[in-house]
Amino acid sequence: MSSVTSSANTRSSNTQASQASSALDYDVVIVGAGFAGLTAVHRMRELGFSARLYEAGKDVGGTWYWNRYPGLKVDIESVEYSLSFSYVIEQEWTWSERYPAPDELCRYANFVADRLDLRRDIQLDSRIDVAEFDERANLWVLQNSQGETVRSRFVIMATGMLNQPIKPSFKGLDSFQGQQYHSARWPRDGVDLSGQRVGVIGTGSSGVQIISTIASEVGHLHVFQRTPGYCLPLRNHPMPEEYSTRVKANYAQWRAAERYNSFGGWVALNYEIGEPVTGSALDATPEELQALFDERWKSGGLSFYNIYPDVYTDLEANEILAVYLRGKIRERIKDPKLADILTPKYPVLTKRLIADTNYYEVYERDNVSLVDLSEHGIDEITPKGVRVGDTEYEFDALVFATGFDALIGSLKAMDVRGRKGITFAEHWEDGARTHMGLMSAGFPNLFIINAAGSPAPLFAPVILGQEQIEWVGRLMLKLNERELDCIETTSKAEDHWGGLCEEAVSATLFPLTESWYVGKNVPGKSRTGLAYFGGMDNYRKFMTEAEVSGYEKDFVLSAAPLAATG
Ligand code: NAP
Repeated sequence: MSSVTSSANTRSSNTQASQASSALDYDVVIVGAGFAGLTAVHRMRELGFSARLYEAGKDVGGTWYWNRYPGLKVDIESVEYSLSFSYVIEQEWTWSERYPAPDELCRYANFVADRLDLRRDIQLDSRIDVAEFDERANLWVLQNSQGETVRSRFVIMATGMLNQPIKPSFKGLDSFQGQQYHSARWPRDGVDLSGQRVGVIGTGSSGVQIISTIASEVGHLHVFQRTPGYCLPLRNHPMPEEYSTRVKANYAQWRAAERYNSFGGWVALNYEIGEPVTGSALDATPEELQALFDERWKSGGLSFYNIYPDVYTDLEANEILAVYLRGKIRERIKDPKLADILTPKYPVLTKRLIADTNYYEVYERDNVSLVDLSEHGIDEITPKGVRVGDTEYEFDALVFATGFDALIGSLKAMDVRGRKGITFAEHWEDGARTHMGLMSAGFPNLFIINAAGSPAPLFAPVILGQEQIEWVGRLMLKLNERELDCIETTSKAEDHWGGLCEEAVSATLFPLTESWYVGKNVPGKSRTGLAYFGGMDNYRKFMTEAEVSGYEKDFVLSAAPLAATG
């Protein structure tokens, strides 16, 4: 292994001298060049820390680099799903669509990297294979796929919450003789499915977008649906110039509204800043409910997340919205039998809403068939296709739109070894263990962004990531100010945070439904500590309290290697 030599080979002026300082290549190594990773590079540089970002992909963009399946669009408005820390970026970049596709999102990520001159601190096509905490030197030693070894004091894991694709362990999975694709690892050059017999397994956000897009291209499409979702029209179109100009002129208000909208984080409603809905759905008059729901329906996308708070917590309140949306779905499906199969029954919002473009209409095509798995699941994958009961469906290509090991998958898949060589896979064997979704016990000076234990599933990850990175940056400064080397959280703090997460999720309807929100899409996965469902405002209070108390509670700060001090 060669060791990196770099102009940043010493600690920046901001960094305290320590026993290990001479061995450092960078103050901080950042993993992942999605929006959070780019934010972290910029922020670390602003604060005077030397930083190096490693990205396994050949380009920046993160989720939007890796996910390239046909029909993919982001389902949060572009003017909101964008970075808010740079006035220059906000003003100079103009989105072409209300909901852009991955190409444009990656162009945006490239624009950010170039305009803020981040590229000189970014190493692409370079996977971090191993990250190991050296307890004697109090630093992280990381090895990348290019055979380099780097040493850093801090690590920021910006590896994303929906990053590790999963395929169910179907009997005979590898026996299929045709082509297999996973939605999250679609070949970058595209796939020619024209005229082919194609099976798509999964009807979440990814499956629905794929199905809607390839239906007109393939020979015959079979859709394997286990649970129908709530699909709502995305209503995408080219960005109205007037809207873009207006948002740019008022970005500060837009960003503030996003930040302080505790659930969702996104606020756009009919091209205006939507007010957070308060009160109870149970107290609203039928006319008020109708007006509110119709306004959201007209706006499209995921605007229904900004709804009466008790829709998330009370079955009766939830059912009011569910009935409305089921009605809207049925209106789009001509065949009543088909409508029965495609209409969701579970409490609305407890699985992520799906933003679609002509999805239900696809089933009017003669070349599309729906296979209902609600009573009888897939028995096996065969060399020719898929067997359900006595029926074998034959395919040229099979698409797995079966989702992700969300929130914990990316770190569990990496070889990250904390104290005593313990990995995340080991530490999180029985469920996610973090304090505030930012640190895990035994992993000193390592910060996790937008993942386990955080409000990421229910809050705009771009904003959450930025707030977490700002928190981490201030913490790093504070350590230097106090001439401390190291911060880590404790097992007790993890237990406490896991309890708070459990308390928060138990007060909602989310546990009633089997989804990635609560880990139910992966056999045996625990929901404890997986995510914080208590709202961004409460989460922010915990972050602030930790900071103003000087990290005295739930953290251990040290000036010398803990192992050495015993
Ligand atoms: P997902 O929502 O977890 O959906 C996975 C699908 O696979 C579900 O329909 C699931 O059925 C099905 N499935 C899993 N195991 C199965 C089995 N053994 N047999 C039959 N069906 C099976 O995954 P996703 O669609 O990739 O979306 C994940 C998340 O990524 C979304 O919720 C969203 O947050 C994000 N996303 C966003 C966008 C966007 O911005 N536009 C696009 C794509 C994804 P069950 O429901 O019955 O489990």
